[in-house]
Amino acid sequence: TNALSIKNLSKQYGNGFEALKGVNLTVEAGDFFALLGPNGAGKSTTIGIICSLVNKTGGSVEIFGVDIDQDFAEAKKYIGVVPQEFNFNVFERVIDIVVNQAGYYGIPRSEALPRAEKYLRKLSLWDKRFNPARELSGGMKRRLMIARALIHEPQLLILDEPTAGVDIEIRRSMWEFLQEINQQGTTIILTTHYLEEAEQLCRNIAIIDSGNIVKNTSVKSLLQTL
Ligand code: ADP
Ligand code: ADP
Repeated sequence: TNALSIKNLSKQYGNGFEALKGVNLTVEAGDFFALLGPNGAGKSTTIGIICSLVNKTGGSVEIFGVDIDQDFAEAKKYIGVVPQEFNFNVFERVIDIVVNQAGYYGIPRSEALPRAEKYLRKLSLWDKRFNPARELSGGMKRRLMIARALIHEPQLLILDEPTAGVDIEIRRSMWEFLQEINQQGTTIILTTHYLEEAEQLCRNIAIIDSGNIVKNTSVKSLLQTL
């Protein structure tokens, strides 16, 4: 099965700018997949469309076989998203940000609390659980968004530049964490503009430039052609 299948996806913004020009992409269940490209290539636009924050102009998106146009409520259950921008209430406590997210998926608090503990511990945020999010460093805020994205235990985790602006030690521990959850069966798609990140973590890679996929291959064979 495919975790994600994107066909002929296009996006023209209100100002006429064509950010995606017929993108085709499939990601198999269980994969660790990188969407690599320079700033402005169309990575965030692609993710925005997958999670229905951005309206597409044309094409289709299926998540585990569910077309987002036909049943986004169903498709949404499969995905956890870590956006690039911090989009939580910074005055809320860390634990509440994670646990309250479970409510959107109909998960009872009694189930959400042990899950929140598990992920906050793994992401070294448990000691900060009673702090308001504004007291966290940038790297901690990024990890908080990962914990929040996992609370409904999605089969597909999508991260938009998860380690941008994060220092190298924290980056390595985030990489280890992502590898662990991928090994446990979660499909992961991340966007990055660091080839090194894709190389260290991912099995398959698509390179996007100016709204076009210019290469789609395994990381192994990409490295052989460089
Ligand atoms: P849509 O075509 O999807 O409705 P819009 O063109 O209306 O999108 O823009 C949505 C938002 O993105 C607006 O608030 C706009 O100010 C902002 N925006 C415009 N240009 C850019 C840009 N180049 N990069 C990022 N955001 C932009
Ligand atoms: P990336 O994530 O790869 O850096 P984006 O998907 O954010 O790229 O942006 C792709 C292109 O679309 C960029 O040139 C950006 O300026 C433009 N863009 C993004 N949002 C908008 C918007 N709302 N209106 C107009 N142009 C936009």
